[in-house]
This record gives sequence, structure tokens and C-alpha cells, in this order.
Amino acid sequence: MKYYSTNKQVPLSSLKDAVLKGLADDNGLYMPEKIPQLSKEFFATIRTKTFQEISLEVATALFGEDVDAKSLREIVYGALDFEIPLVKVTDSIYSLELFHGPTLAFKDVGARFLARMMQHFTQDEQREANVLVATSGDTGSAVANGFLGVDGITVTVLYPKGLVSKIQESQFTTLGKNIRAIEVEGTFDDCQRLVKQAFLDKELNQKLTLTSANSINLARFIPQAFYYFWGYAQMPQGSNVVISVPSGNFGNLMAGLLAKRMGLPVKHFVAANNANDVFLEYLQTAKFNPRASVATIANAMDVGNPSNFVRIMDLYGSEHAKVVADISGYRYSNAQITETMQRVYSETKYMLDPHGACAYEGLQEYLKTDKSAKGFFIETAHPAKFKETVDKILNADIEIPAKLQAFMRGQKQSTAMSSKFEDFKAYLLR
Ligand SMILES: *Cc1c(COP(=O)(O)O)cnc(C)c1O
Repeated sequence: MKYYSTNKQVPLSSLKDAVLKGLADDNGLYMPEKIPQLSKEFFATIRTKTFQEISLEVATALFGEDVDAKSLREIVYGALDFEIPLVKVTDSIYSLELFHGPTLAFKDVGARFLARMMQHFTQDEQREANVLVATSGDTGSAVANGFLGVDGITVTVLYPKGLVSKIQESQFTTLGKNIRAIEVEGTFDDCQRLVKQAFLDKELNQKLTLTSANSINLARFIPQAFYYFWGYAQMPQGSNVVISVPSGNFGNLMAGLLAKRMGLPVKHFVAANNANDVFLEYLQTAKFNPRASVATIANAMDVGNPSNFVRIMDLYGSEHAKVVADISGYRYSNAQITETMQRVYSETKYMLDPHGACAYEGLQEYLKTDKSAKGFFIETAHPAKFKETVDKILNADIEIPAKLQAFMRGQKQSTAMSSKFEDFKAYLLR
């Protein structure tokens, strides 16, 4: 399988090059040249399969030409070795809990898969690979932990000073080994800009092998498609399934749309946002106006210029009518997120985190317009990852899982930096 850039200014690329580059030379994002279709038989037996079995079949359809069967099996089974339960919350709403991995957030899926895929493709290289990652919180921890101890790869995490929670920060600043953290004087968008600029810098690219682990890397977003098949397979048989996704950079939703194109019979998607609502605005007006992000209590979704928007446009040939036929959008203020968390907790005892709360509410609102459907939302993080916020809202004292406590006991090691590109470049060349 070959991969093209969404900007279509460079030749087709192999899987290896696309994974190691992250971003194409024309600044576009890689997309698979063909979208494979899964067989009738796959869907007929999907309910009898485990998550790993489903994932391997989907992965083989996509990557089977380029990664030998034994390696692909090791990558899939190694990356996806934790539970992803579908939990019933109300008669029509289920939660796909993607927070049972090592950092208790859904990004573990993509990051662990990517780390293994990169290692597969770099194991014979002489030069050390440098993974650069900008994070608003959860990406950094998932990527750092996904790559921790992986030979031949150094990870540099950039995060906005003071804008990620203590718990999140501890998950990528305390690891040591091949992981380094930079605390940037600025916002998440500044961090993302620094990383993007580094990839375009000639000198850096001559001297270093730079690669990306943000959701722009296709080996991060594509494995996220696997759990859409799995979630679907756990729903009551015969349901018309609607899936709601709490969205920031839209890698997660993009993976769901890919699953649908591969044949997964999803009836509709909901894109749930916090106050950062450029995608909702696109759905309503057909115009896309990226802008600076604003800070909210669902901070992993504080993105003003979603990087995967171009992939969604590419998948739909930029036809607005087709996009709105598949996706509805909703936006929630901090007050609405708070109200949803309190209501759902008091009515069902289910504890939502602020991101999952956006998705829950969006699903509930959408289901009012389609009584024949049921749905699940993607619960992207364990509520304890946002303990201060969640405790205050629910008037609770959530227990911090042992996995998180272990991070919090570590010693913070990070480098303070301005948001100037020259400073970042000098650091990388040092
Ligand atoms: C990253 C993240 C999101 C947003 O996912 P995208 O793929 O960027 O849209 C939502 N919730 C949590 C907890 C996250 O960490």
C-alpha cells in the first residue's frame, strides 16, 4: 500500500517513509491510497472475536502488504494488551472506556502502536530517531510511555507551562531514559508550531532524523480505528449505532470515519467539542476558520486549529453535504460540562471525566433526534486524571489508581524554554 499527502505535491510514499516522516514534505498529512474493505464474513463473526483478534484483522487489511505477518501480530498484541470495556450507562448510552492502558487515556492505543511500528522500521538504521511531540496533556504522557525504553529512539515532549495538570505533567517529566520534556512559555498552539517548524527546517533535517508522534502520524491515528469495530461488536445486536467522539485534533474521530469507510455500519457520528468550536462552525457554515484556542476544563480538547481537519476534508472530497450527512456537532461550555457530570453521576453513579462528558451530552442530544438508535461515546480518560476538577464538580474524593500514583512519586525533570523557534532549534542541535 502506498500513502499520498493531502497536499498532493509530493510522490506517493511507502508505509515506512510515511511513518518515519510523520508529516509529508509538502506539509500535507499522509493518507492510505486505497481504503480496504473488510469482508462480510469478518462482520458476520465479529461478535465472537476478542479485541486483539479484531485489531489484527483490521491491521492486516491496512498494513499486511508492508509488515510481515509475524511482526504485525507482535505489534498489535504488544500494543493492545489492556482491557477496553463497553459499559452500559443508560438504556441507550454506553461508554467505551479507553482509559485502562498505562497512562489511563485513549492515546495509549495510538502511541503504543506507533512506538512498535517505528521500532519495526528503524531497527536496522544507524542513526538515532528523534520523536518530537507537542502536548496539551495526554499526548505527551501516552507517547512518552509508549516509547519509554525503546532502543534507538529519543522522545522530546513540548508542553505549555502551567496549562497541563500536575498528574499529566508527572507522566512525561519523571520518566528519564530516552524521554526529555520541555516546558514552553506559551500555549499548546505554540508547542505545535515549534514542532511543525522543526520538521520544515532544512538544517535540522540534515543533521537529525526527526519524526512526529502527534496525531498527524498515520500510525497513531489508524490503530484508533480498531476500537470502533470492537465497540460496535459489543453493542446489543441489531442496534443502529451512533458514536460520539470528544474531539480536539480530530485524530480519534478521523479513525472512526476510516472504520466506517472500511465497512463498519455506523449510522452516524457525533463530534463533541468544548468551547473550541471551529469544527462545529464548519458543519454549520461550510467555512473553516482556525483560531487561537481557549482554555477549558476539558483541556485535552483545547485546540483552535485541528490538525486532522485536512484528513477529514480529504476523505470527503471537501464536500460539505457529505460531511454533515455523517457527522453532527455539539459544543459545551464549562458550565454545561459541569452540569452533565453532576447529573449523570447523581442519576446513574457513572463518573464522567470532562472530555467524556462532552461526548456523553452530544450523544444524548443527538439521540433525541433519532429514537431508533443507540450509541456509545468514547470515554477518553480516567476521571482521576483530572482529579482536582472532578472532585470539585462531583464533591467527591476520587481514588487515584496505583498506576497514576506511581508517576506522581517521581522527580520532575524538564527544561524551561521560550516559544521562539531559534531556542528550540539550538536545543535540538546541542
Ligand atoms: C487528546 C484527547 C482528546 C482529543 O482527541 P483528538 O484525537 O485530538 O480529537 C479527547 N480527550 C482526551 C482525554 C484526550 O487526551
